[in-house]
Amino acid sequence: MKILLVEDSHIERHRIGGYLTEWGLEFVAVGNGTEAVKLLEGPEPPNMALLDWMLPGLDGIDVCRRIRTLGSGTTYIYTVMLTAKNRKQDLLLAMAAGADDYLAKPVDPSELRARIMAGKRILELQQSLRFAATHDFLTSLLNRSEILAAIERELSRSGREGKPATIIMADIDHFKRINDSMGHAAGDEVLKEVSRRLKSDLRPYDVVGRYGGEEFLIILPGCELTVGTRRADEIRNLVAKDPIFTPFGTTSATVSMGVTATSPGRDHSVSDLLHEADVSMYAAKKNGRNRVELFSARARQAGARQS
Ligand code: GH3
Ligand code: MG
Ligand code: MG
Ligand code: MG
Repeated sequence: MKILLVEDSHIERHRIGGYLTEWGLEFVAVGNGTEAVKLLEGPEPPNMALLDWMLPGLDGIDVCRRIRTLGSGTTYIYTVMLTAKNRKQDLLLAMAAGADDYLAKPVDPSELRARIMAGKRILELQQSLRFAATHDFLTSLLNRSEILAAIERELSRSGREGKPATIIMADIDHFKRINDSMGHAAGDEVLKEVSRRLKSDLRPYDVVGRYGGEEFLIILPGCELTVGTRRADEIRNLVAKDPIFTPFGTTSATVSMGVTATSPGRDHSVSDLLHEADVSMYAAKKNGRNRVELFSARARQAGARQS
């Protein structure tokens, strides 16, 4: 949790900042609303704001309203108004502007601490709900709708910035046999371990998601097809190379992969890309499994001739 403290009085800022430091909380302190908005709209914004009401320029209420226009795509910013005003209608105005809580000045440290802890609980709950809504329960990878949304974003970015991205579809080979011979619970353990291996070698901006039962999608932003295919093969090898230990016995798993890439000049949709990755993944199955096939320009032309 990172706190933003907005307070124009140097003395108050210093005093409250001192408490936050004492309680081991991470924070940034600014003296006016304009600087606050810059931080809130910047990369890695704070997720809690302690806002003085009276500020030069944009006041606390203005900042609060701005926070609430940031939208649901961003993480929730828990907002506490700090103010000497204590008439009921002021409280109502603050709440209407989007404040979550309200604290009378001069701020009493034990009360401030209690309010911050209450906010922290709400933020943690919100984060765990968001995680559950965007990740696959079994493997903790991104879930289907999130990985598809990520491909959509990559596609528009590639159009905008002229950068390619590699899309890999990976399917576990003969997975049914693992379920049949060792049981479904062992199959689940294998899915978890394969998922862990799929992401073990990724860069921070690469993403991997569970597309369906034993099928996965990996996005490598900034990676054109040849480089992407080489990296797919490295990932394939990471999955295959070591045995998988489960409480039900030891086994191993391999994946077949189909690789395609967005390319800036091309007009293609998410479903085109999925189709290309899928066609290539099936070619990998047909050509012996535990291998990588890429969707070549030749295959694309052949497809275009067919349709
Ligand atoms: P191929 O090499 O052609 O991909 O063969 P396969 O056996 O992997 O493919 P198939 O589509 O026949 O079987 C996929 C199996 O994956 C069937 C399904 O029961 C299993 N499966 C899907 N989701 C889960 C899951 O969450 N847990 C477990 N244990 N099994 C799952
Ligand atoms: Mg003030
Ligand atoms: Mg499958
Ligand atoms: Mg399979």
